[in-house]
Amino acid sequence: MRQSRRQFLRRTAVTPSLVCTLASEELLQAQSSASTGYDLLVRGGRVVDPDRQLSDYRDVAISGRRIARVAPRIEEKEARQVLDARGKIVTPGLIDVHVHVYDGVAPLGIPADPTCIAKGVTTVLDAGSAGAHTFPGLRKYVINVVDTRVYALLNISVIGQSTVSTDHPWGELLDLRYANPKLAIRTIEQNRDVILGVKIRLTRNIAGDHDLKALALAREAADAVHLPLMVHIGGSHSPLPDILAMLKSGDVVTHSFRGGDGGILDSKDRVLPAVRAAVERGVHLDVGHGAGSFSFRTAEKALRQGVLPGTISSDVHQFNVNGPVFDLATTLSKFLHLGLTLEQVVERASTNAARAFGLPQGLGTLREGAEADVAVFEMVEGAFEYADSLGDRRIGNRKLRPVATVKAGKIYGSASIPVATV
Ligand SMILES: [Zn+2]
Repeated sequence: MRQSRRQFLRRTAVTPSLVCTLASEELLQAQSSASTGYDLLVRGGRVVDPDRQLSDYRDVAISGRRIARVAPRIEEKEARQVLDARGKIVTPGLIDVHVHVYDGVAPLGIPADPTCIAKGVTTVLDAGSAGAHTFPGLRKYVINVVDTRVYALLNISVIGQSTVSTDHPWGELLDLRYANPKLAIRTIEQNRDVILGVKIRLTRNIAGDHDLKALALAREAADAVHLPLMVHIGGSHSPLPDILAMLKSGDVVTHSFRGGDGGILDSKDRVLPAVRAAVERGVHLDVGHGAGSFSFRTAEKALRQGVLPGTISSDVHQFNVNGPVFDLATTLSKFLHLGLTLEQVVERASTNAARAFGLPQGLGTLREGAEADVAVFEMVEGAFEYADSLGDRRIGNRKLRPVATVKAGKIYGSASIPVATV
């Protein structure tokens, strides 16, 4: 491991919030006279790539912004930089399909980079923070600017999630006139490169007692643009089976494992037949942990009955980023505790996420030729207390700790993993 003291100091001096402006570009430039083949080698880690059912020790070589080669042994001298991943887990850059990163406009918004790209998540979907009127700002001030790759689900309400805060519980669809399919369709048509679906929230304080009418308008918009509809369930005026009846194959239910009313279990803790029927016809269950939307108890009951999430997302935002959600890796660790394998949790935050929302080919995979998005984690063992959204606690014995991220070939480091230059 060769590493200059100057580089080491530069890497260790950064704070988490600055981690995205790390010196990798400078480093690469400094080494550009080297005559070696690869730009970066992630060496010696256990590679978990569910896209090709790989879970074994591999080296990953990167050229430019692409994965160049994945093989049991690639010589260090073939690369200009080496990321030492021995003892670590190497995955595709993770995809979180439910976050809120419209910082400064939606009260629940957080800056994307310190929580996403700095923690192994290279791609996110902002799930409805913006509606047709506020989307141009999301594009201009977030999507086009941050290092995390941000896509969006457009809220059917023109005002997006700009109204609800901890001190103001009145949601974006209390006045049904704010649900405007025509404007949603126009906005999506103009931004198809970054908008991947339509979002609607149906809780009573958000959609009142006209939730099904609002859902019909969201349905109309999603059908017109042939994109999935993500539906936030729980605490709605209408029973869940009536909501599910309006969903089609490819649509996504988020907050699937919430506690309380409007969830997927009946009064005897059995998964509702309507939920099983929806899953069978291709409706997809997403976690969307959030501040109020994940219950260990519900998840335990559902998993025992064979109902698993299709995607695991965090719904990380201002009101849960300091707990109980923290980040996607913590949400994945909770599902490890619930009994899913490492391969299963990674699959739900990479391959499945990419497929569910039709992300461009080459995301969520480490196949040769794919975008060079790579996440490196440490599996820490010990006793870790995990809390759900209801304050229920479990003690897990493993925790996935993000240590480094590579996006499109560029390192968004962590001070804890040294990079050698060869
Ligand atoms: Zn959300």
